[in-house]
Amino acid sequence: GDPLVTVDSLSYSYPYFGTEEKRQALSCVNLEIQTGERVVIVGPSGSGKSTLIQTFIGLIPHSRSGKMQGRVTVDGVDTSVTTVPLLSKTVGFVFQDPDHQMVTSEVDSELAFGPEQSGLDPEIIEERISRVAGMLKMEHLRGREISDLSWGERQKVAIASVLVMRPKMVVLDEPLSGLDMDSAARLLDHLGTIVKTWNIAVVIVEHRLDLLKDFMDRVVVMDDGRIVYDGPVVDYSAEAMIPHPGETGRVLH
Ligand code: ADP
Ligand code: MG
Repeated sequence: GDPLVTVDSLSYSYPYFGTEEKRQALSCVNLEIQTGERVVIVGPSGSGKSTLIQTFIGLIPHSRSGKMQGRVTVDGVDTSVTTVPLLSKTVGFVFQDPDHQMVTSEVDSELAFGPEQSGLDPEIIEERISRVAGMLKMEHLRGREISDLSWGERQKVAIASVLVMRPKMVVLDEPLSGLDMDSAARLLDHLGTIVKTWNIAVVIVEHRLDLLKDFMDRVVVMDDGRIVYDGPVVDYSAEAMIPHPGETGRVLH
């Protein structure tokens, strides 16, 4: 069938105020993501990873005043003609800092917020919350104040709060950055079970590829606003991460 996400000749420049040399954050990016596919995006700091994934939920162009060219289509809809709240039903976005997306002060109200906004029946909301809380092994967090939770616990609440919306895709910006090795592996394990069960596509921006090798199908490497590698995780080697001119194979130029 049609891809879940199609990025077509996408370029983006942030608004320019200072005297710095003007740089394009994204330069003519093309990408397709299929239903249920698990994609990891890697690349050096400033290469455009966060900017790219923000286009999947319409934050770009709707919440930023930079210049976007090209087109992003999510589930058949051009993101520039819809809204962030509508896209949020299809795409669950988990920010790098979980506190960025907390809208309430308590775990249960946080998990119920999205489904309540969508007008779901309270019984269905409770059923979804308890299912997701069980799968993420976070039942013990229910009823707690968010301000009392650790970084890792807040990260779990943030992830759960998008999963209760039953999105077609979840997008996570460096979700493992605040976690130790064991917690990161456990979180990926639980998340993997959920996305496979519900056939949810996943896009993760993450440096720690070692942790993700078994979890992801595909790796996309960005450098300086472009995709420079796109291929199966099994074929990916770290040496290909920042390709040099003249390299061949799967490295894209
Ligand atoms: P990454 O997530 O790969 O580290 P980003 O997408 O955050 O990269 O950044 C890509 C480029 O856009 C960088 O040059 C960065 O400095 C610039 N940039 C990111 N966010 C903003 C912003 N809010 N305003 C201006 N420039 C930005
Ligand atoms: Mg980033």
